[in-house]
Amino acid sequence: MKCKKCGERASINMRQHRMALCKDHFLEWIPEQTERFIKKYNMFTRDEKILVAVSGGKDSLSLWDILVRLGYKADGLYLGLGIDGGVNYSNESHRLTEEFARANNLTLHVVDVEKEYGHSIPVLSEVTHRGYGKPCSVCGLTKRHEMNRIARDFGYDVLATGHNLDDEAAVLFGNTLQWSADYLLRQGPVLPSAEGLARKVKPLCRFYEREMTAYAIARGIEYIYDECPFAEGATQVFYKESLNQLENVRPGTKLTFYLRFLDARQSGELFVQRDKDAAHIHPCAKCGQPTSAPELCSFCRMLEKASEVTGL
Ligand code: SF4
Ligand code: ZN
Repeated sequence: MKCKKCGERASINMRQHRMALCKDHFLEWIPEQTERFIKKYNMFTRDEKILVAVSGGKDSLSLWDILVRLGYKADGLYLGLGIDGGVNYSNESHRLTEEFARANNLTLHVVDVEKEYGHSIPVLSEVTHRGYGKPCSVCGLTKRHEMNRIARDFGYDVLATGHNLDDEAAVLFGNTLQWSADYLLRQGPVLPSAEGLARKVKPLCRFYEREMTAYAIARGIEYIYDECPFAEGATQVFYKESLNQLENVRPGTKLTFYLRFLDARQSGELFVQRDKDAAHIHPCAKCGQPTSAPELCSFCRMLEKASEVTGL
C-alpha cells in the first residue's frame, strides 16, 4: 500500500476514504481536515477563546494538540472525578494531562470534584442513588455543570470536546433505536450557546476512532490507554461493537450514517424544531446556571441530597 500523496510506503489505510497515507502526510491530513470541519460547521474563529475538556485520553489530548498547531487559542480543563480503577484511573489520567500541558507550555485548569464539593463522583452517586449503581449519570451531570462553570467564570467563548465519529455514531444509533426526538435534535457538531450556557463543539466528530488512535501514536502523545472502569459493559460499547460489525462488511457505514443524519436534520426533513422548554429557563438560585427546575438546578439538588445523607 502506497501513500496517496508521495508514493512512499503507507502507514495507515482508510478504506472508507479509499485512501492510504504515510505517517508524515497523515500527520498533516488530520489537522487540515479538522480545520475544514471547524469552518464548515462554523465552530469558532481564531479570535475566540476555547476551553478543551481533556481527560488524558487519546481523543481529547489530540484535539488540544491539533487546535494549538492550527493556531487557535485553546486552554485545557481537567476534571478530577476520583475514580479508582485497577490502575488508579483518575491519578494516571491527571498526570498525563499535566505532563502534556507542561511539555507544550499550555494553560490547564484543574478541578478536583472531591475538593470542590466534598465528595468524589462514586460517592455522590452512591449516596444520591442516581444511576442504578453506575456513577455515569452523576458523572455526566457533574462534567456538564463544571465545564460550563469554568467557561463562564473564565470568559471562554466555546467548549470543545474530543468526541470522535465512533462516539457520535453510537449515540445516534442509541437515540434512533429509541426514537428520542429531543436528543436527536440536540445531537450535532455544534450546540449553539443559550442563556447562560456556553457553545459546545466537537471538532473530531468526523474522524474514526482508529484514525485518532493512529494520530496520537504517530504524534508521540502519551495518553491513558485504559478506559474508565465504569465504561465497560455500558450500552454505548454494545452499540459501538454493532456498528463495527456493519463497518467491517461495508466500509463507510458509520460515516454515512452520521453525515446523512446531519443533512436530514438540517434540511428539516426529520423533525420539526420545537422550543417548548425555552420559556421556562431561569438561573439556579444557588449556582446561577440555567435550569428549567423550579428553584435549584439538578446538580445543586444532587449536592443537597448528598449533604443530607452524609451530613457533610
Ligand atoms: Fe464517568 Fe466513567 Fe461513566 Fe464515563 S464511564 S460517564 S468517565 S463514570
Ligand atoms: Zn445550580
